[in-house]
Amino acid sequence: MTEQKKKLEKLSGVKGMNDLLPEEAGLWEFFEATVKSMLRAYGYQNIRTPIVEPTQLFTRGIGEVTDIVEKEMYSFTDALNGEQLTLRPENTAAVVRAVIEHNLLYDGPKRLWYIGPMFRHERPQRGRYRQFHQVGVEALGFAGPDTDAEIILMCQRLWDDLGLSGIRLEINSLGLAEERAAHRVELIAYLEKHQDALDEDARRRLYTNPLRVLDTKNPALQAIVQDAPKLIDFLGDDSRAHFDGLQRILKSNNIPFKINPRLVRGLDYYNLTVFEWVTDKLGAQGTVAAGGRYDPLIEQLGGKPTAACGWAMGIERILELLKEEKLVPENEGCDVYVVHQGEAAREQAFIIAERLRDTGLDVILHCSQDGQTASFKSQMKRADASGAAFAVILGEDEISAGTAGVKVLRERQGEGKSEQRTVPVEDLTEFLINAMVATADEGDD
Ligand code: ATP
Ligand code: MG
Repeated sequence: MTEQKKKLEKLSGVKGMNDLLPEEAGLWEFFEATVKSMLRAYGYQNIRTPIVEPTQLFTRGIGEVTDIVEKEMYSFTDALNGEQLTLRPENTAAVVRAVIEHNLLYDGPKRLWYIGPMFRHERPQRGRYRQFHQVGVEALGFAGPDTDAEIILMCQRLWDDLGLSGIRLEINSLGLAEERAAHRVELIAYLEKHQDALDEDARRRLYTNPLRVLDTKNPALQAIVQDAPKLIDFLGDDSRAHFDGLQRILKSNNIPFKINPRLVRGLDYYNLTVFEWVTDKLGAQGTVAAGGRYDPLIEQLGGKPTAACGWAMGIERILELLKEEKLVPENEGCDVYVVHQGEAAREQAFIIAERLRDTGLDVILHCSQDGQTASFKSQMKRADASGAAFAVILGEDEISAGTAGVKVLRERQGEGKSEQRTVPVEDLTEFLINAMVATADEGDD
């Protein structure tokens, strides 16, 4: 291959990291607007942290013996100063780091939320990507089960607002450290009895993090895991009361749930409440949100002991579900597309388009693709294809008469496209705004 040819080769993006194309933008914006309005309804405040953090934050904050830290992190050495850095695989550790660093809890507890891309080196498949997006909440400084319940109710409200049904809630309690220690002794003894049947991951975790063996995805291990000693049978009075408290609030708010004793979550820092929202409609990647309480984490990262709980939601999986359920909102075009012909009309078109934008209308001004003025016919084709509601037409005749042509482009119910109307330029804004309102009213019927 010649040098010349090599340069012309097409470049592709990184495997498992997706481009979000304009045709999907409406869906993303719909989700983001809906989730933000839900978060506002509960008084949550936005926090934005960097995408890159010191690797140590995640090894300490997530736990060495986890899928994420063992095999999923994009870590690298900064070539300029030798720092060990990692693209964030999740955002709880980073939010907690920022909260400690800026002493955000000095005046009491905080309800925080974040949204953005996360990075994990996994095998790409439906619902599992190497760059994916999460929205998440962290409620810091609240110890009671009422906050666990609140963050769960937030999810339910979001499903309702999005129009999604059939997402099931599973909950469990991981108890406290000493309760897990007592369970661990019996769990290890049980797993040792089945050592020959364990897979490599499970054998490696047997002594480092046996609880994690319980959330294995290996079908061959399901029977063993099913009969393993259950952590829930080791809970002390306080843990049990916390778990009962949560269940009471869920029941009084009519949130159905199932207790899943094998739900242990992938991350090490959880205690007491853990939960997942699961759907059957996405195949193997059915968990759309997961969360729970992580009271030990803040101290583990160098802060004062502080109660904490939160969840993270996989946005791609929820969008997939919206598509599956045919809940995708229609992509709306602009309000107005301005076509023009002739030097004088081009100048006026610019001014008129700006004036329309001043009033809040969304306007596309026709621009030439090749420096030549396109015919009205081909400009109108573009206007149609743009999805705009109206075309504003400016030719030499209109300019000399001080008028503009207006044409309805989006067909209204029961009506064809309208004939072209002539409107004095000074009345144009008012005319368009009234026409927009009329169209919107019809849409409401
Ligand atoms: P899984 O068991 O599916 O690997 P996880 O336990 O690793 O999930 P969390 O770390 O709890 O997931 O992340 C919360 C949510 O983020 C998940 O429930 C899922 O919806 C989403 N998520 C996690 N990893 C990915 C990924 N690689 N691609 C897309 N979404 C993901
Ligand atoms: Mg995972």
